[in-house]
Amino acid sequence: MDRLSPIKEILERSGDARYGGEKISQLQHALQCAALAEDAGCDAALITAALLHDIGHLVDQHAEGAAAAGVDRRHEDIGSGYLAKFFGPEVTLPVKLHVPAKRYLCAVDAAYLSGLSAASVTSLKVQGGPFSEEEAAHFIAQPHAADAVRLRRWDDLGKTPNKSTPGLDHFLGYAETIVQ
Ligand code: FE
Repeated sequence: MDRLSPIKEILERSGDARYGGEKISQLQHALQCAALAEDAGCDAALITAALLHDIGHLVDQHAEGAAAAGVDRRHEDIGSGYLAKFFGPEVTLPVKLHVPAKRYLCAVDAAYLSGLSAASVTSLKVQGGPFSEEEAAHFIAQPHAADAVRLRRWDDLGKTPNKSTPGLDHFLGYAETIVQ
């Protein structure tokens, strides 16, 4: 666990941080997303990506209130850059692409767009809005883009107040098997 202790500390601290405009903490959101990936039978890399996809918000000290203020801090790039110290592209790329994956899903799935939470609609505007057909085709052809789309759906689902999940150490156990 030593190698991953910086990540563990960041996530433990995030138990007090609200997840955007939602009614849960960043830590609860991370655990719910990882649990959804685990339930879907995913491998250690995608479970790890689900657990850590928002770490960019937590390592960025200027993140608070940014989306509401109309500023995109690009937490997906901050997060994937940070995670590259620990993991390969099978973790960093789904994290990097989970924001454009929302723009992709809005372009290809009308039901998806209408199902977004209010906070997620606000951040979509800051993130550039839905992709065009051509942008969507280009997006999904990238390596690990399909994983990012799966992660995106868990991201949207992992916002349930008071839902119980396995704890942080359980999911960091997957990360430990693939840390570099
Ligand atoms: Fe998220």
